[in-house]
Amino acid sequence: MQNYSAKLKIIIGQDNSTLRVKAKKIAVVTSEIQGLIEKMAQKMKEAEGIGLAAPQIGKSIQLFVVDSLAFDRERSKWEFKKITPPDVTKPLVFINPVISSYPKGQDAFIEGCLSLPGFEGKVSRSKRITIKAQLVSGETFKLQAKGLLARVLQHEYDHLQGTLICDKWEKEMKVKSSSATADKVKKIVFFGDSEYSQIVLNKLKVTAYEPEIIIGKNTKYQMPDTKYLVGITASYGEIIPRETIDKFKYGILNIHPSLLPRYRGPSPLQAAILNGDSKTGVSIIQLSEKMDAGPLVAQGEFMVDELYTSQTLGEILFKEGALMLLDVLPEYLARKLTPVAQDETKASYTALIEKKDGLIDWSQDAQIIERKIRAFIPWPVAYTYMNHRGAIRRLQIMEADIIKNLTIKKAPGNLETASQELLVHTGKGILRITKLRPEGKREMSGEEFMRGYDVETFSSKSK
Ligand code: ZN
Repeated sequence: MQNYSAKLKIIIGQDNSTLRVKAKKIAVVTSEIQGLIEKMAQKMKEAEGIGLAAPQIGKSIQLFVVDSLAFDRERSKWEFKKITPPDVTKPLVFINPVISSYPKGQDAFIEGCLSLPGFEGKVSRSKRITIKAQLVSGETFKLQAKGLLARVLQHEYDHLQGTLICDKWEKEMKVKSSSATADKVKKIVFFGDSEYSQIVLNKLKVTAYEPEIIIGKNTKYQMPDTKYLVGITASYGEIIPRETIDKFKYGILNIHPSLLPRYRGPSPLQAAILNGDSKTGVSIIQLSEKMDAGPLVAQGEFMVDELYTSQTLGEILFKEGALMLLDVLPEYLARKLTPVAQDETKASYTALIEKKDGLIDWSQDAQIIERKIRAFIPWPVAYTYMNHRGAIRRLQIMEADIIKNLTIKKAPGNLETASQELLVHTGKGILRITKLRPEGKREMSGEEFMRGYDVETFSSKSK
């Protein structure tokens, strides 16, 4: 469960599109690039930053500058090839830098970033690193850095890879109390009433974007007749009317767990698993009257592991969605990013899932059934029927995998009674059920079931 390899690609207005891509290598240091370096040094000084990378000012090239303040001569070791050491009283320039390994010794410190005004959080980094880079002259150097310098270099180097500190900080995300941005952000209303909503809300609560009003299942739908800044909704079960949307200066942003316009509607998580998609994602859209059809503010892709259930996939996507929202909110509220209309010709829709959809049809392919089992966790949970001692009983199936290379062929629904494992024949292939719950009983393993029940077939018929 821990090893989610989230790969976020954020589509935001042209201004910040460079923050989320790997920067290009610089072949020749042109006079234009030299001018850019001066501009960056100036910007860094104005913003009182200690480092600045080219992607932060809209240039996707492998270049960053670091303020001389970060240099600690005693803790940094330079190695030059036949060149004079650079003047460390001036900002130092790193062109085409490479940090090839991140040694194990790490420490965690609060970091901020000029691209995420108003935010800071604890980031773990290697205490010491070695970086190789080029100077403006084209000469290469190697620098061993410790302490603050090592941290700054890793932060700026991350920018060139399209990584931001919000990808790395955990719960410790905080707000700079002195930040002007933090003071301005008020009057946020959150709409949400599920476990997934709570994931998003928990992330928002520790930031400047903590909602002042939370509207959930048990909250009466009442909003004072006043203007609000922005609304945020995630996994909210109600339709929000136009007149409510209009109360917000910046509208309402909705986190939807799919790559919109794909999978609009109520069951995008289930659809991704049922269809065996290897890739899905999370979208942030401006809410409009037409369901899930509003313009896109941000979108991130995510690889779907073959073991995910709708529940685990949902937890991951809403967590990533919340981080993405926090990532784009400053830009969005500054009107620096332009939402992009969805391509209506590519739209697809998902249906509301009903309890009866959980019934397994054993004549289907084992792969289809296995996906269905994962898609219907936590609800409605896939189920089947069995005849046990003359009574028809329902049983829920929570976990299964497909048996490969087994050539025995029996009618769909038949159990492999000689086996200690719970093996069920399907229309194509055999399914091994590893977790199930007979009606009125506790959850058990397939082996426990085989020991305790004398059953020969599973059936989709309750009579
Ligand atoms: Zn930064």
